[in-house]
Amino acid sequence: MASKTSAEKDRQLGLSSATYEEIMAGQASDVYFERSLNAASRVKHDANIVAEVTLSGPLDPWVNFTGLNEVLGILTGKKVDVYAIPEGTIISPRDMAGNPVPVIRIEGNYDDFGEFETSILGFICQSTGISTYSSRIRDVLGETPFFSFGIRRMHPAISPMIDRAAYIGGADGVSGILGGKLIDQKPVGTMPHALSLIFGDDKAWEMTVKAAGPKGVKTVLIDTYMDEKFAAIKAATMFPDLNFIRLDTPSSRRGNFANIVREVRWELDLRGYSNVKIMVSGGLKLENLAELKAAGAEAFGIGTSIASAHPYDFAMDIVELNGTPLTKRGKHSGKKNLLRCNKCMGILSVPSTKTNTICKCGGKMENILIRMLEKGKLQKPYESPGSLRARTLKELELLRLTAQNQ
Ligand SMILES: [Zn+2]
Repeated sequence: MASKTSAEKDRQLGLSSATYEEIMAGQASDVYFERSLNAASRVKHDANIVAEVTLSGPLDPWVNFTGLNEVLGILTGKKVDVYAIPEGTIISPRDMAGNPVPVIRIEGNYDDFGEFETSILGFICQSTGISTYSSRIRDVLGETPFFSFGIRRMHPAISPMIDRAAYIGGADGVSGILGGKLIDQKPVGTMPHALSLIFGDDKAWEMTVKAAGPKGVKTVLIDTYMDEKFAAIKAATMFPDLNFIRLDTPSSRRGNFANIVREVRWELDLRGYSNVKIMVSGGLKLENLAELKAAGAEAFGIGTSIASAHPYDFAMDIVELNGTPLTKRGKHSGKKNLLRCNKCMGILSVPSTKTNTICKCGGKMENILIRMLEKGKLQKPYESPGSLRARTLKELELLRLTAQNQ
């Protein structure tokens, strides 16, 4: 009897996630790929394919494309060429002419990549959902910091992916240890309610302030037992150089959260603690943020709504077979480039013979589907999450400017 793989041993313990070894062996795929590949290899081996990935829904005004790193990771070493738009690119799902927009193009033998379709889509559908939500938060909050606190709501196996996507999308930091390592940033945390429950507020705050060190950001959670206002005044009196008090008011006590923030701000200011800022957390969604910011919240911990952001339905379709354009009903055939205007951000999906044009706004349009892998080899070192996040922020700024000009 063959010995059990480590994944099989894990399953016996009740652990259910796939390993990268299994994903790379095509085992995390829908079964019909395996069946059709077995059939294909009996019939012919020379099916030279061009496949493209487009977004079929939901057709929001824009998405922040991420998850490509993992796609390239599993296709490295395979005999394929991969073209893609860079992660952190903000793009609308339809071009200026209303045509679908290719974000990835894969060229090679179907045998070499067909079985990875399920995983390729899963990587980008979920990651793009999270990074897009994070970017929408960034857009609402402007310069105000927010942190990704949501990994506890999702399977731990994907926690680094969630934090990475949230960070590239614009979050200022993440709470996960592995996520922090992946994005090369120190993970961010304040203090758990458990500390106040075990030691009492006074001792717990003292420990937290001490742990932050003289130069660290000192944030204490104030509403474990007490009313927000009185606890805030007490914490600020005990530690006048606090940076933040954090309000994590339970939903059953909230009434009007923005008004609680306003009241706490008022009472702190009145006593000369304008330096002590208010951080809010707990079940926050995009639609709550503007009001809380206006009320005086100056930092946000956002969890579930980022981590559980809805995935986008990217689809992968064959568009060319052995050099001949061909695709299924409802899709556009032929190998394509994606041109983007350097002035208005407008995009156009065009046949791949076309590499540039002049936009109707007068700007220059150039191809942004960049060759990432050639015969399975990475064409240049992959960008760091920090640089991908910088792209996002630049793109959001461009988006704001073009929206203003319209
Ligand atoms: Zn333009």
